[in-house]
Amino acid sequence: MKKITILIPAYNEEEVLPQLHARLDKVLTNLANYDLEILFVNDGSRDRTLDIIKDLQKKDRRISYIDLSRNYGKEIAMIAGLDYATGDAVVIIDADLQDPPELIPQMVKYWEEGYDDVFAKRNSRRGETWFKKSTANIFYKLLQKFSKIPIQENTGDFRLLDRRCVNALKQLRETQRYTKGMFDWIGFNKKEILFDRDPRAAGKTKWNYLKLLDLAIEGITSFTTVPLRLSSLLGSIISICAFCYMMFIIFKTIIYGEPVQGYPSLMVIILFLGGIQLLSLGIIGEYIGRIFNETKRRPLYFVDEYNGKKV
Ligand code: UDP
Ligand code: MG
Repeated sequence: MKKITILIPAYNEEEVLPQLHARLDKVLTNLANYDLEILFVNDGSRDRTLDIIKDLQKKDRRISYIDLSRNYGKEIAMIAGLDYATGDAVVIIDADLQDPPELIPQMVKYWEEGYDDVFAKRNSRRGETWFKKSTANIFYKLLQKFSKIPIQENTGDFRLLDRRCVNALKQLRETQRYTKGMFDWIGFNKKEILFDRDPRAAGKTKWNYLKLLDLAIEGITSFTTVPLRLSSLLGSIISICAFCYMMFIIFKTIIYGEPVQGYPSLMVIILFLGGIQLLSLGIIGEYIGRIFNETKRRPLYFVDEYNGKKV
């Protein structure tokens, strides 16, 4: 019998877990001819999430869980889950029921038809603000322009991955992860299904705009070096202009002499160049920071316990 793992990263989700389990349970009866595993990754929750998972496990033997040693963030929680998942396919789903579990049987159907990565694409983002929608839109457009691999728009982490994809993702051990890009980077047979994203069932979102900006910078710096290229391009354009201006000044001085003047132009040039230099340094720093973090080669996470056993 083939085995399917449902992977659920959870951080402070005490309010939705019972509801999530009830809905999953109903859906999973449609998958009776599969061996099932429901793998919770407790990402250092500070509420009763872990207790609730343990309670659920007593009632439902399909459940297993890993408890991370602290909050590492969703990206790390997902790779931890992939490391521990035992299924021939893994379905990643959010705990907050924004991703309807009812899509899982359809994903499995496509998987049986031979697709390796069946991802759910949002038709609409109900319950999200206009501002979040438009910033997300701009970000995807930019990333698309910059990077050489196609990155799916309006797609979250809700997807079914064949074992081949899981094994591929497990080999990408970078600490600063942009998983959404990785799904595209590894390739394999992809199939898209459309759905309407629901508002969160209960509890609060863990994202704020600062974190989203962070993720956006992560996405751009981990998948392209275009900003570096832009800063050198900007540098060369400015050098050429500066050279022309220099020639102009030299000839002007030779021909007309030089009564001391030019404070405004001097200031403008100094400030402008200073700004550009700082900007370029910032961009370079961004990449050096990444190099710094990756060269430490730290493990991505530590597990506190796996199914009740200390690790
Ligand atoms: N999550 C996590 N660790 C974190 C933040 C979030 O494991 O540090 C989980 C969270 O429990 C949920 C999923 O990631 O299952 C998506 O989080 P959320 O709903 O807050 O994000 P949004 O849907 O608003 O993008
Ligand atoms: Mg959510």
